[in-house]
Amino acid sequence: MKKNDIYDIEITGMTDDGRGVGRAMGMAVFVPYVITGETVRVHIIKALKNYAVGKLIEVIKPSPERVKAECPIYYKCGGCALMHMSYEQELKFKREKVRDCLERIGGFDGIKVDVVVPSPKPVNYRNKSQFPVTTEGIGMFAQHSHRLIETDNCLIASENTRRIIKAVKYWMKRCGAAPYDERTGSGNVRHIYTREGKGGVLVTVVTAKSSLPHSDKLVSDLLDSGVDICGIIQNINSKNTNVVLGTESKLLYGNSFLTDNIGAVKFRISHESFYQVNSLQIKQLYNIAKDYADLKGHEVLLDMYCGIGTIGQFMADGTKKVIGVEYIQRAVDDARKNAELNGIKNAVYYCGKAEHIIDDIISSGEKPDIAVLDPPRKGCGASLLKSLADIYTLKRIIYISCKPSTLARDLKILSEYGFKPKIVTPVDMFPRTPHVETVVLMSRIS
Ligand code: SAH
Repeated sequence: MKKNDIYDIEITGMTDDGRGVGRAMGMAVFVPYVITGETVRVHIIKALKNYAVGKLIEVIKPSPERVKAECPIYYKCGGCALMHMSYEQELKFKREKVRDCLERIGGFDGIKVDVVVPSPKPVNYRNKSQFPVTTEGIGMFAQHSHRLIETDNCLIASENTRRIIKAVKYWMKRCGAAPYDERTGSGNVRHIYTREGKGGVLVTVVTAKSSLPHSDKLVSDLLDSGVDICGIIQNINSKNTNVVLGTESKLLYGNSFLTDNIGAVKFRISHESFYQVNSLQIKQLYNIAKDYADLKGHEVLLDMYCGIGTIGQFMADGTKKVIGVEYIQRAVDDARKNAELNGIKNAVYYCGKAEHIIDDIISSGEKPDIAVLDPPRKGCGASLLKSLADIYTLKRIIYISCKPSTLARDLKILSEYGFKPKIVTPVDMFPRTPHVETVVLMSRIS
């Protein structure tokens, strides 16, 4: 097989990142935008020793689950990977992906995985978006590149982002604010970064320079956009880097944080702190975790990787005590403020790496009954899991994961320490992308 060859292949499976897999000349070929069961014509764009990558030319035999992608830039952007299939098919793919990882990586043969809890809305669900500003316009970078695809209408972003982009565009034009050019380092405006809660939208405009002429007009144009804006920040990033935010920020208007609530629990979130991106679905996710915690009121609950304290505070009224652990100081500050805001008196917070701080917490005499683990994609790692298993009072672990492969790896370690998975519930926090969240209840057996 060589580059530029054309083959008709049958798609027999899907990869974790939502691409299809088929075979030609005895070799695996990976193809985006296809569905298991389809026959497709592909153009080989990369032929390596063990596998090839194909570009879809034509769908010869379409799947009944194929739909017309709603987003006009879907095939150019690469931010979403599943818009060409029905939402039902997407949920099936996600359930299969979780099951496959748990069986293949975790060794849990025949494990039961619940159907995926669907998102109330598969579009316009994101409460956080980043739009690069370049000499080519404002929009999205195509996947793995800095090629700008102009749009003011990302379908998975909040509907408010459209008006915010329009307002910034208008201001740039009327005030002569130049977009940053990463090739020459000239210009100023680099990114529009929005985060949104029920208390309004926090808009951050990232600039290359510290000076921002006509920032007063930027504020007035944004306030005139018709969007409920709770704060406007200028963030300065003078480095030639892919990282969006720099370290210095100036508040131009309102608050430097946003506010949201999950059920009756209120949260303030500073612009650097983590918050689940699908606001419509957070409550369902936390309710599942709370349900699996099965609180009776006397439990001490560890909230590992607690961020701004969300999960622990959502459960605090059913516990004796919540102990939160998080390594970003700003998030810990937010967590303490949130506890105060919610009148929660039984929550304490530690700032430090979960894997380092856990032993100190236990040495100080704490006797947790339940642990909630909500790590970033890379998972928890062996040393934290060993420390948790050594806590003899710990009966249950609720693992919330955004990456099935690291989840499976960590559950395998926990099962070697005597915990067994009881319930596995995937929750769709990221419709139209290949990502899926999973909540797992583990109970101590031995
Ligand atoms: N439970 C929170 C946050 C989950 S995101 C929520 O649902 O909103 C994961 C969090 O873990 C982030 O806030 C990140 O800053 C934090 N984190 C990442 N690595 C960590 C580590 N080694 N120790 C402690 N916290 C960590």
